[in-house]
Parts: sequence; C-alpha cells; structure tokens
Amino acid sequence: MDLSVGGPGPRLAQRVHHLRAEGAYSVLARAQALEAEGRDIIHLEVGEPDFLASEEILDAGVEALRAGKARYNPPAGLAALRHAIAEFAGRQRGIDLHPSQVLVSPGAKPNMFFATLALIEPGDEVLYPDPGFPTYAAMIGVAGGRGVPVPVIEARGFSFDLEAFDRALSRRTRLIILNSPANPTGGVIPAEDLEHIAAAARRLDAWVISDEIYTRITFAGGIAPSIASLPGMQERTVIVDGFSKTYAMSGWRLGYGIMPEPLARQVELLLTHAYGCTAEFTQWAAVEALRGSQDWVAAMVAEYRRRRDRVVAGLNAIPGISCREPQGAFYAFPNVTALGESVDLLADRILREAGVALLPGTAFGQYGEGYLRLSYATSMENLEDALERVEAFVRSL
Ligand code: PMP
Repeated sequence: MDLSVGGPGPRLAQRVHHLRAEGAYSVLARAQALEAEGRDIIHLEVGEPDFLASEEILDAGVEALRAGKARYNPPAGLAALRHAIAEFAGRQRGIDLHPSQVLVSPGAKPNMFFATLALIEPGDEVLYPDPGFPTYAAMIGVAGGRGVPVPVIEARGFSFDLEAFDRALSRRTRLIILNSPANPTGGVIPAEDLEHIAAAARRLDAWVISDEIYTRITFAGGIAPSIASLPGMQERTVIVDGFSKTYAMSGWRLGYGIMPEPLARQVELLLTHAYGCTAEFTQWAAVEALRGSQDWVAAMVAEYRRRRDRVVAGLNAIPGISCREPQGAFYAFPNVTALGESVDLLADRILREAGVALLPGTAFGQYGEGYLRLSYATSMENLEDALERVEAFVRSL
C-alpha cells in the first residue's frame, strides 16, 4: 500500500488510498493538453450524449429558474418529480412503485454510492462486473467491502460468465452489482441470466444494485429487462437510473434511486447530510422530461443505432480488430488482441499518433485487457474521421 498518497502532513484515511481517477476523465485531460499544443483530437473517450436537451426541457428549466425555484427543497426530491418517476419507472418495468421509494440525487452516482454505504458492513463481499463502470469498485472500497470482480465475456454478449459468477458467490456475498445495458461493453443481460442471478440473490439473501442508466438506449426496442421485475426481487433491489443519458442532461446532474422504503429512509439521511438536496429548477425540467413527449428520445436512440452500425462496420473492416454488435448504451468495445500490444499502450499511441482519444478496456478492470472502448455519442463526421485515423494507424504497425 502506498502510504505516501497524502504527501507530507497529517495522514489520510485508509479508505481513500485505493481511489484512482476515472479513465475517461484522465484521458480527457491528456487529450486537452495535446489540444492546447495545437493538436487536432477526436474525442471518443467521454460517455455523454452530444445532443442538447429538448426545447421543452430547456424552457421548463429556465422558467423554473426565473420563477425563483432555486431554493432548498426536500432532500429526497420534489414530490412532483418523485411521483412522476414512480409512475414512469414502474410502468416501464411492470412493477408498482410508490413515490416514497424514490430518491432524487444530483446524478445517479450519489444514489449508488450512498446505497452501498447503507448496505454493506466492512468485509462483506460485493460482486461487480469486470470490465465495468469504475465507480463500483471505488464505492465498494470506501464502504470497506471486499470487491469480487466477475468477468463479463464477449462470448456471452458481455453478460456474466455464469460459471465464474457462481464460483464468486459465498456466504459473505451481501451485494451484487449489475449494469445493463453496460458501460463499457454495450452488453445487455438477457432475461434468463437475470433469473439465474436473482435466484442466487434470493438464496443468499443478498441485495442487488441494478444500474439501469442506459435502459432506454437499447436497439432491440423497449427497455432492457430489469431484475427488479422478477418475483421476490423488488424488496432486495436498488434500481439506479437518471436523466444524463436518456434526456441528454449529463451536466444538469440529475438521477435517482428506487429502493425499498426502509432503505430509502436511511439513504435519504445520508443524502441529507452529504449535500442537503438536489437543485430545484433542474427537477422541474425533469418533470417536463418525463411528462412530455418521448418521441425525441426515440429519435436519439435511432441516431445512436445508425452510428453504432457505422462504427461496428468500420472497426470490423480494420485488420486485427473485431467488434461485436453492442445491444445498448453508446459504446463499442472492439477486441484488439490480434494487434499483439497491451491496450494501455495502444490507447496511448492512438491518442498521440492518430489524434483519437479512446479508452483502454483496462480502465474498466483487469478483464478489459484486449479491448478498447469508443463512445459513439458524437457526430457521424467525427466517427468517420476517427475510423480513418485508427485504420491508418493500425496499418502502419
Ligand atoms: N452508471 C454508468 C454505467 C455510467 O456510465 C454513468 C455515467 N458515465 C453513470 C452511472 C453516472 O451517471 P450520472 O451522470 O447520472 O451520475
């Protein structure tokens, strides 16, 4: 353990020693440093929509701000928004939800983080997907849990390797983290895998945090199946979702958690003491997002699909790269093992030599070796240009 993490002066607590920067933010910083030197960089590293929120949402936010709706408000969120979320999210997943189960937060992340703090004791084991969103390992570590990475594998459409999943379970398993559709792979967990995972959770009396932030961005139509819809699962599941991806509102910082009421009461207290409440005018914009027409969400998803098809075809045309068709989210996760280089080195060279910022799969865990992650939430023109640059780079190897 590197005890010099805090530098000179009084020591930092052990619980923060393991924390590392999120890959996307550190590659973005390196890409921006190159841009400051005059280099032209195409950004495929950060996972956020390139669309602007709809006119209706923008108007609702601005009007609320002008009407003075920028005060402290209830820590769990505005009643109108909690009602709208309970109704909308419940209808989508075919479950009955009460507004008291809904907690609004600035982005989805705080709900995940604080639910984890509320659920696990030091030493409890937590299964999480690898490669997976880096916040999972970070929050497990801060809570004092023992993270058990479970490989998600290409051969299964980037769902869990179920044999590895079964081997990872133990009497100490307290929490299982799922993410479908997934960052960084674009994988969707099929219903039969959810049944398998749910049976394990029930058997071990474990909790599930189901990160469903990309659930509306699926290419098979509808939403991705939710484990919370399965029998006996609502009482042990925390659904995490939000407005960043679906409504292109990443910088508005607005997300939510849906959980059993006794847990919601305690997580609400954690939220209260951590940040008080979520901004008010953004919540009024979110009410509009849920109550208004959903057509433009469908239009965005159709555009992501067009880009996905172009990116997957372009990557597969490059010798040494093979890319499975992602089923959701807006990431491609090509297999580059045939190029025979570590992906950390490859991603770095592609940034410096080809001017394309993307992430090594290892930014998402050890099982990400052999893969790169590209976000296709950018214009078709940028994607075409990036594909050409990557192809020229690979052919020069
Ligand atoms: N979960 C996953 C899998 C994500 O990719 C992201 C955003 N990168 C989040 C959660 C967090 O989203 P938010 O902006 O709502 O905090």
